[in-house]
Amino acid sequence: MFTLNELPFSLTDLEPHISAKTLEFHHGKHHQAYIDNLNKLVAGTPWEKDSLVGLLLKSYAREGKEGIFNNAAQVYNHDFFWNCLRPARHEAVIPVELKNAVIHSFGSWEKMIEELKGAALSQFGSGWAWLVKEDDQVRVIKTSNADTPLAHGQTPLFTIDIWEHAYYLDYQNKRAAYVDAVIDNLANWSFALENLKD
Ligand code: MN
Repeated sequence: MFTLNELPFSLTDLEPHISAKTLEFHHGKHHQAYIDNLNKLVAGTPWEKDSLVGLLLKSYAREGKEGIFNNAAQVYNHDFFWNCLRPARHEAVIPVELKNAVIHSFGSWEKMIEELKGAALSQFGSGWAWLVKEDDQVRVIKTSNADTPLAHGQTPLFTIDIWEHAYYLDYQNKRAAYVDAVIDNLANWSFALENLKD
């Protein structure tokens, strides 16, 4: 049985960029629903005792297991996403080690930010924009729907949820305003560094 992890901040900590109302629905309803669906799909099956990542990896691209993959990946992606955010009152801190790795791969920090925002805006429909580590390079990628870099052998460093449920209550159709607000004001780059070191 999987249960919903608590948010690493309070419901009002991301305001004014992400409202308590959005978090209440996004975490309390959407994220919770992925957990409930996953529990239902594996209950009473040999997969019941698997870990979340174990389920995600063994169901990927496996016929008949799409529901398990989609829900397991969405649970993983959301847990990861919450850790990518920091309370709005906290100053942006870009750890030197992360910055150097980004400069090595992109030429500059600003170029990476531009690519990350570009990936978030160009994803057609629901999905995620990511900073990942692959072959000792830092890369920007985007995934559709529930898809996740873990299923592709990439190490996720940072992500932004670009499903409409992440921003519609606060920004309606203005995805760019949401993406700018999150990356400029709420990004927790220390978490990205922890993942880079893993
Ligand atoms: Mn979401």
